[in-house]
Amino acid sequence: MSNRKPYTKPELRKLEESDPFVQTFMAELNQRFPIVHILKGGFPLCGFSLKLPEHWPDEHKWISYLDKEVHKATCEDCKKEYERDRS
Ligand SMILES: [Zn+2]
Repeated sequence: MSNRKPYTKPELRKLEESDPFVQTFMAELNQRFPIVHILKGGFPLCGFSLKLPEHWPDEHKWISYLDKEVHKATCEDCKKEYERDRS
């Protein structure tokens, strides 16, 4: 007979959004990969907020509609609106 302990599955903890670990992780993630909206006339094309960008949550950034680096936007809805606008 073997003395080895029977294998038990490690207990998996379901991560909740309120978990400090998740919050720290998300904050880090948002900082590294912010959602970059395309701003036209002071508002994001996707309409995610009617507030001025300075009042947006930290993870939301913006780039101007007229910026030559507008392709760096990461918001899918903004990009779709941008393409529609340009065609
Ligand atoms: Zn957007």
